[in-house]
Formats: sequence, C-alpha cells, structure tokens
Amino acid sequence: MDCLFCKIINREIPADIVYEDEEVLAFNDIHPQAPTHVLIIPKQHIATLNDIEESQLATVGRLQYTAARLAKKSGFADDGYRVVMNCNEDGGQTVYHIHMHLMGGRRFTWPAG
Ligand code: ADP
Repeated sequence: MDCLFCKIINREIPADIVYEDEEVLAFNDIHPQAPTHVLIIPKQHIATLNDIEESQLATVGRLQYTAARLAKKSGFADDGYRVVMNCNEDGGQTVYHIHMHLMGGRRFTWPAG
C-alpha cells in the first residue's frame, strides 16, 4: 500500500520515533508547528476518521492516551496542550492514515484557522 505513514511504521522511510507499542507509533512532525509537535498513529491502516470501525475503538482511544502520556513526559500537561485530528479535504487532512497531532510548549489560539 502506498501510504507514507505505513512506510514509517515498516521502517521503509526514516522518522524521529518517540514512542512505540504494539498498537501505536509516535514520531516528531517533520514541519513542527509548536516546540513539541508529535504525530501519533495507529499501526493498523485507517484512512480517515470516517473509516474507524467499532473493533478499532481501543486502538483509537490509545492515540489519546498516548498523547496525554507524552504531554506529561514533555512537562506541559498541566500548562496545557492541543490535540488535533483533521478529516478529509475541508478538515485539512493531507496524509490519509489517521493521525493525532500533539502540540505543546506554547499557547494556542481558538478558533482554529
Ligand atoms: P497537514 O499537512 O495540513 O497538517 P495532516 O493533518 O494530514 O495535514 O497532517 C499531516 C502531517 O504529517 C503534517 O503536519 C506534516 O508536516 C506531517 N508529515 C508529512 N510527512 C512527514 C514525515 N515524513 N515525517 C514526519 N511528519 C510528516
């Protein structure tokens, strides 16, 4: 399958991996938008948020659990941080393998652009 993030999972292209377990992988975003900007992805290929199946809910929950754990480890959990998942074109998704952006280390504004 021609998926950039599957290739990172399979070590076919390099990434700066910060966390891995049986279900998820986390690595630094190549174009960081904050002092910490990590992408957390399921090892199973799921193209968009619309494609999540009930059998995958535990894995998807693990994305959020991992984000919170990495935020604590990075030291900004109490100050706060932003998690974002973009879906399809209007949502700004460019890589069609679901990923949670974890951004921290600065103050964010709302609403998102
Ligand atoms: P957007 O590109 O608009 O942020 P997404 O929500 O689909 O849309 O996010 C894809 C993210 O993947 C981007 O933040 C981009 O910088 C990141 N990215 C693309 N290629 C790589 C790569 N090889 N390694 C790490 N991050 C990557």
